[in-house]
Amino acid sequence: MAVPKRKTSKARRDKRRANWKLSAPGMVACPNCGELKLPHRVCKACGSYKGKEVVSVEA
Ligand SMILES: [Zn+2]
Repeated sequence: MAVPKRKTSKARRDKRRANWKLSAPGMVACPNCGELKLPHRVCKACGSYKGKEVVSVEA
């Protein structure tokens, strides 16, 4: 079994634990309506994808 040669210092341990926070999801403006949407996904505001591919338009 692998055994650590050195004790992990408080600074090293805390730096590792300081890296868990979530990052904001990538958002792009929909070219059709300008609404912020996730990239590579159908716009939930207007239902368009890749220019005009309308999947569903909410009433
Ligand atoms: Zn849109």
